[in-house]
Amino acid sequence: MRYGKMKKIMVTGGAGFLGSHLCERLLAQGHEVLCVDNFFTGTRRNIAHLTANPNFELLRHDITHPLYVEVDEIYNLACPASPVHYQFDPVQTTKTSVHGAINVLGLAKRLRAKVLQASTSEVYGDPEVHPQTEAYWGRVNPIGYRACYDEGKRCAETLFFDYHRQHGLQIKVVRIFNTYGPRMHPNDGRVVSNFLVQALKNDDITIYGDGSQTRAFCYVDDLIEGFLRLMATGPDFTGPVNIGNPKEFTMNELAHQIIELTGSRSKIVYRGLPPDDPKQRRPDITLARDKLQWQPTVELREGLSRTAKYFEDFLREEASR
Ligand code: NAD
Ligand code: UDP
Ligand code: UDP
Repeated sequence: MRYGKMKKIMVTGGAGFLGSHLCERLLAQGHEVLCVDNFFTGTRRNIAHLTANPNFELLRHDITHPLYVEVDEIYNLACPASPVHYQFDPVQTTKTSVHGAINVLGLAKRLRAKVLQASTSEVYGDPEVHPQTEAYWGRVNPIGYRACYDEGKRCAETLFFDYHRQHGLQIKVVRIFNTYGPRMHPNDGRVVSNFLVQALKNDDITIYGDGSQTRAFCYVDDLIEGFLRLMATGPDFTGPVNIGNPKEFTMNELAHQIIELTGSRSKIVYRGLPPDDPKQRRPDITLARDKLQWQPTVELREGLSRTAKYFEDFLREEASR
């Protein structure tokens, strides 16, 4: 599917998990892509297959600092996304979301460029409304360990809507729910990468808490399709719009499914639940269905098997180094 004429498109965080898939899709559509990344959690390996493409350009840059380039559209994905990474330097995490948004919005304002913000289901915090619709304002602990990420992303949304109202900027805000797939970090502590790597190594599978907490997992290709459809909407549609898979699983179910899929000899062990860990999370995607005609197409089993293949190759490569 093509989405309008060819453009010069900036992707911040383009060397990360989601960003690298987005760059790949945009290049495949014939666009020019400027990937901006400071390599905090992103890697050259993620974009190595793109660098030979003459339409791909890489700029090593930290988006907390101003940036003067010429582009038609911007996807703002730069921000560490897993708790292990965003809690490593929480002040920098907030700066990346807030100063990063200001710089990206200032750039978009100068260029009159359309700009998309990768927000998160974490803006709903530990929700009392289930499933979460975009109308829900959320329940975030503003002084907790997750706040640097959650409140940073909430403030970025505020900035996007204020630039829209105050300066007439064309904005698109997507609230991403848990997404998985190839090029996830093998040791970023997220549940899908942890369980898959543990299963492939026949190590113990670590369930935090009693494993009854739920999440809903979206395969990366489905998510990127949602991004492209959102960016292609007219100026009246800003979002925020939830993009995620509404099929909900407990962590116990996920662990069993991964053991079965990989034929692993791993045992399940139970560990303490991290502070402020949301009990349940599932997107209501009515808005995405209505406005973007979008819904996920890849089943968890299929997505996990593609991701397992990626980790298998990754672990083999690592072992041979
Ligand atoms: P990731 O860590 O793989 O990618 C983030 C990228 O941003 C990395 O390449 C990193 O080096 C770069 N980055 C971080 N700080 C930067 C800075 N100051 N300047 C320039 N680059 C910087 O994470 P991801 O899973 O690909 O997430 C991408 C975006 O999507 C993030 O904004 C994240 O908050 C959001 N998101 C992801 C998920 C998910 O399930 N993966 C869920 C909700 C939201
Ligand atoms: N900015 C940028 N690139 C540009 C234009 C602006 O990085 O092409 C940054 C710059 O740091 C500025 C911020 O975006 O401070 C916000 O820009 P805006 O025009 O909203 O505000 P001001 O320039 O008045 O601070
Ligand atoms: N989790 C787990 N074992 C792990 C890693 C995570 O049981 O090895 C749990 C975690 O406590 C949370 C869920 O899995 O309840 C999803 O965690 P993740 O960090 O992937 O995403 P988030 O909490 O940000 O939704």
